[in-house]
Amino acid sequence: MCQACWGTGLTRRRALFAVGAAAAVAACETNPVTGRNQLILVNEGELSQMALQAWAQQRQQTPAWRNAAQQARLERVGMNIARAANAANLAWEFVIFDRPDLNAWVLPGGKVGFYRGMMELTATDDQLATVLGHEVAHVIGRHAAERYSREVAQQSALRLAGAVTDSQIALAALGLGSQIGLSLPFSREQETEADVFGVNFMHASGYDVRQAITFWQRMQAANTGSRPPEMLSTHPEPSNRIATLRNYINERGWGPV
Ligand SMILES: [Zn+2]
Repeated sequence: MCQACWGTGLTRRRALFAVGAAAAVAACETNPVTGRNQLILVNEGELSQMALQAWAQQRQQTPAWRNAAQQARLERVGMNIARAANAANLAWEFVIFDRPDLNAWVLPGGKVGFYRGMMELTATDDQLATVLGHEVAHVIGRHAAERYSREVAQQSALRLAGAVTDSQIALAALGLGSQIGLSLPFSREQETEADVFGVNFMHASGYDVRQAITFWQRMQAANTGSRPPEMLSTHPEPSNRIATLRNYINERGWGPV
């Protein structure tokens, strides 16, 4: 029934053990938007609760950029994308943190963090919609819950040794692992899914999807320093993702690009 989940390399016995250990809800679920089977071993209410705490902490630690025009722009484009994703009912919050980083991230439940550097890089609303489409797709795709579930199911050596707790794994799954020295990289599958569904949401809300290519080219061009922008170092190689997006956009007849 749930071949795709069981086929990810874990055995049924190990997965069941993980369920008992985590006292979590075990399920192999089909995502209604993406149609993909996912192994979900976490109560999403608990994960959302952690996300809310992490969000509050982040807002306390990093000042917001006081730029009313850019804030309004982010919220307007963000809600357009959320509506296109059929997710306008989530408690979306959009904050621009006053840092030069070329990065953006999202927490389950719809808390979206942007950095000033990323806002400045997105020259048009279409480019901004590219980033927002990607982040909203991570929420719709339940990628944090999936990352958490995979990690728990794999019974990492660190976890078995008691060196990390389930709540630390949850933080890492939320993308906040750097705070505790445990990183859970995005899987290639999740990243591609976020790119593709992001472009779908862009198209549904009337943005120019060809500018997704422009945006990633700009990110690539900005990658000239000794340290790549964070969104590049934790994400797939830009030329690969540009090629994948280009194919997808042309296949859908939204190009040529
Ligand atoms: Zn991503």
